[in-house]
Amino acid sequence: MVNYMLYISGELENLTNFQPRGGVDDPDFTYYFKLKCENCGEVTEKETCVSLNETLPLPKKGTTNLIQKCKFCKREGTVTMIPGRGSPLTNDSSETGKYAPLMVFDCRGYEPLDFAFSSGWKAESMEGTKFEDIDLSGGDFAEYDEKGECPVMISNVRAMFKVVDLSKKNL
Ligand SMILES: [Zn+2]
Repeated sequence: MVNYMLYISGELENLTNFQPRGGVDDPDFTYYFKLKCENCGEVTEKETCVSLNETLPLPKKGTTNLIQKCKFCKREGTVTMIPGRGSPLTNDSSETGKYAPLMVFDCRGYEPLDFAFSSGWKAESMEGTKFEDIDLSGGDFAEYDEKGECPVMISNVRAMFKVVDLSKKNL
């Protein structure tokens, strides 16, 4: 098994604490990404989607979030989400170009790639105004913060999957 951490970053203008609407471990937040088969190298055409509240029983024991057969070689693989390791992207991190860890995916038989930003995000302005339904399907988000009397914006969002060792404290 290999654990992949999904890291996110982006430019936050007058915003901070960018994360899924229900927090970093939002049970309803849907993650969209592609899967590369470790056996034959085939990459799925469409993004697959997983969320914490959608689980499937594994044949032996425990549960997983996705069981999928590779369309090409028919080998079966699983993706299991491991919550409790994420943190919101802060304004400071964004300014220094840092990434925030969001979610760990225990992938067997597949490598995750090409995370797609969609809807269901939230952030708050530096003055504390909450923006709770941010949709990044189009790439950017722009609004006006009445309280802070300034424009707020999220742009240049990017993500990467990195292999992590969960026995280490700082991911
Ligand atoms: Zn395959």
